[in-house]
Amino acid sequence: MWRATQNWLLRNRPFLVYVPALIVSAGWALTRGGVLSSRLVLFACAGLALWTLMEWGLHRAMHVETGIGLIDRIQDTAHLRHHREPDDLEHSVIRLSASIPLATLILLMLRAVLGDWLGSLAMLWGVLAGYLLYEFVHLSAHGPSRVPGLNFLRAYHLRHHFGQKDRCFGVTSPLWDWAFGTSPRARCAVDK
Ligand SMILES: [Zn+2]
Ligand SMILES: [Zn+2]
Repeated sequence: MWRATQNWLLRNRPFLVYVPALIVSAGWALTRGGVLSSRLVLFACAGLALWTLMEWGLHRAMHVETGIGLIDRIQDTAHLRHHREPDDLEHSVIRLSASIPLATLILLMLRAVLGDWLGSLAMLWGVLAGYLLYEFVHLSAHGPSRVPGLNFLRAYHLRHHFGQKDRCFGVTSPLWDWAFGTSPRARCAVDK
């Protein structure tokens, strides 16, 4: 019983942390600005688009072979272990010890570029919403039961795991694979 609860908490930790964080920060923005303006909605959409690129870029970076011990270890802990143990859903979600500092860094960088906290926060909402969508799609791709509407993305991601690990880095969308030439080859069974 405790083991099952622990596994559920591990699998769902991004949702347990970031969904309340999104609600609280949106509430804070409402009290500050009165209404969620179209400008904030636009920033949030831009953040969502930014996430799709980040998703591709971060995943691609996990597969770059540098031969540097420290980077190899980071890649292994953060992602390559998941390739060896794709059914270990508890360890397939990104650790909070990585995602929280990364989210903080993104917020600070957005603030430096955009020049205001509210717009930066709205863009971070979009990034985090995209990230949660990623975790959901990824868990669904490896989970025992199929989620309606996600068959294409499930098959797309499993191609990355089984035969084409140098392709299909997008998880919630194949967009950047098309843009950067890492779309899957037609056949995958022969690829290693
Ligand atoms: Zn991978
Ligand atoms: Zn996976």
